[in-house]
Amino acid sequence: ADTRTAGVLAGLDAEQGAAAARTEGPLVILAGPGSGKTRLLTHRIAHLVRDHGVPAPACLALTFTRKARQELESRLAALLPGETPGASVHTFHTLGLLILRAHGDRVGLPPDFRVADERERRQGLVQALGVSDARAGALLKALSLAKRADPDAPPPDPGVVAAREALDARGRAEGWVDFDDLVGLATALLETDDTLAARWRARFSHVLADEFQDVDPVQYRLLRCLAGDAGNVCVIGDPNQAIYGFRGADGACFERFRRDYPQAATVRLTRNYRSIASVVRAAAAVIGAPVEGVTRPEETPIPCHEAASEKDEAEFVATTLESLLGGHDMLGAHHPDAHAPARPLGFADVAVLYRTDAQADALREAFDRAGIPFQKSVPNPLQDHAGVRALMARLAAEGSEATALPLVRRLTQAATALDQDPDTDPAALAEARGWLAALIAENPGADLAGLAEDVALATEADFRDPRAERVSLLTLHAAKGLEFPVVFVVGLEDGLVPLGFSGRPPDPRTLAEERRLFYVALTRACDRLILSHARTRFWRGAVTPRRPSPFLAALPPALITTQAQPAAPPRPRQLRLF
Ligand code: ATP
Ligand code: MG
Repeated sequence: ADTRTAGVLAGLDAEQGAAAARTEGPLVILAGPGSGKTRLLTHRIAHLVRDHGVPAPACLALTFTRKARQELESRLAALLPGETPGASVHTFHTLGLLILRAHGDRVGLPPDFRVADERERRQGLVQALGVSDARAGALLKALSLAKRADPDAPPPDPGVVAAREALDARGRAEGWVDFDDLVGLATALLETDDTLAARWRARFSHVLADEFQDVDPVQYRLLRCLAGDAGNVCVIGDPNQAIYGFRGADGACFERFRRDYPQAATVRLTRNYRSIASVVRAAAAVIGAPVEGVTRPEETPIPCHEAASEKDEAEFVATTLESLLGGHDMLGAHHPDAHAPARPLGFADVAVLYRTDAQADALREAFDRAGIPFQKSVPNPLQDHAGVRALMARLAAEGSEATALPLVRRLTQAATALDQDPDTDPAALAEARGWLAALIAENPGADLAGLAEDVALATEADFRDPRAERVSLLTLHAAKGLEFPVVFVVGLEDGLVPLGFSGRPPDPRTLAEERRLFYVALTRACDRLILSHARTRFWRGAVTPRRPSPFLAALPPALITTQAQPAAPPRPRQLRLF
């Protein structure tokens, strides 16, 4: 087309550019990790705005986490300088919130309704149904799944129905909804009110969704309402990275989309721009997929280290990291993106990924000893986390005089009380402290309502600051969509990856999802991937012997250098890997 088009689309290859230039009608973009899907999404919006005169706010970009949303916003701001107001970038939940803030009265919500957290809802259930706290927690989990399910799904069991009725009544009386209601009520509203739906459709001429493989049935319906029948709707994702089945995403979203939009075009991107060849090959082997276009031919071997214990494993990560950063590794020299300048490796270039939060403790200790700065993803208090739960329980137990204090003060006091309580589990205390520190750093002047809403809408990855010069400690789930020059994946043991519950092997569906999760983890690495597992681990209260993850067997031996820590000391202080 013209020079302006070249300007916005210049950062894309031919495949990506063709997809970005296809601006009308429904479009599916299917592509593997690191193939530039997210990059394409932002350039496509910039192209719509710059070259087709679409007003930026009429472009609706949907994603899942607040961090992903911020990332999209900042990439768009860079591509479209001076464009205010900018594109409409939302998570499904903030979009639901926006719709309910405008029309919540139609579903009986007061204008200042709030989002209740897990603790409050659990207590509500304990009071309303007279069930135990543990039973209330289990009911809430089942209820959340039921709220995210397809309307055709089999009805939930009577206990869940009763829980729903009790909580709905309480929420209406007290003016709150839960996290799932944000999407569910907004969807119900648009599905039952054509005029309203038409108004929202008119507001967004183009709808784009990233990480579409993780959309649950209700989120899909919301997207469908906003896109309409003949909509300009572009869904982008990778079925091999679907990792939220346990939270209600059912993997059928692409089929639903094709059924609803039979005229949709499908585009595949086939070049991996993120990872070096050995990482691309190793990852492809895990899911049994063919290796697609490699742009970075480096065949740097992938070390797989067997440590004697989880402490030794953490020590290995710290030592390896120090030697990597102490060496004069330069990044960017071989990167296909010509704009990426070569620079020395820093702490922020490194991520350590693990399956469960409990694994972070050993890493934290090793990093503290070695003086390595790190930031840990913070658990979502809506999920089941002992530390945050303990903190919330303290808050709930405080006297009425305390509730006049600012929330952050109250939280800090609660943490102090936890600290002084001899019954407090040290791991829970550490978790509560980490969560609180991140919360305060992110919300210095927050008021109670704002903070509660923020907390309720946050997911674990949201508390990671991408600019901080720190190593990122992340769960495998929280690493989705991110990339790091150096990635460690630790704890690659049977029972952790895949995660096993009560000694039983996971069912085939769960096993497949765990395998995809491992795939997501490997594909976060740009330049270096380092794997590890331990022969023994302190796990659920006891030192247990561990076997390597069965998924490791899928990795082509030629790509991996295995190394085992000797059974007895002394062990080498400095392991030279590269
Ligand atoms: P994931 O599935 O993990 O979310 P993705 O497909 O969204 O991956 P991106 O994050 O968009 O991939 O891109 C991966 C990396 O490759 C980014 O650093 C991006 O800037 C770079 N990249 C993508 N396309 C190109 C290109 N045409 N030229 C140079 N670099 C590119
Ligand atoms: Mg992406």
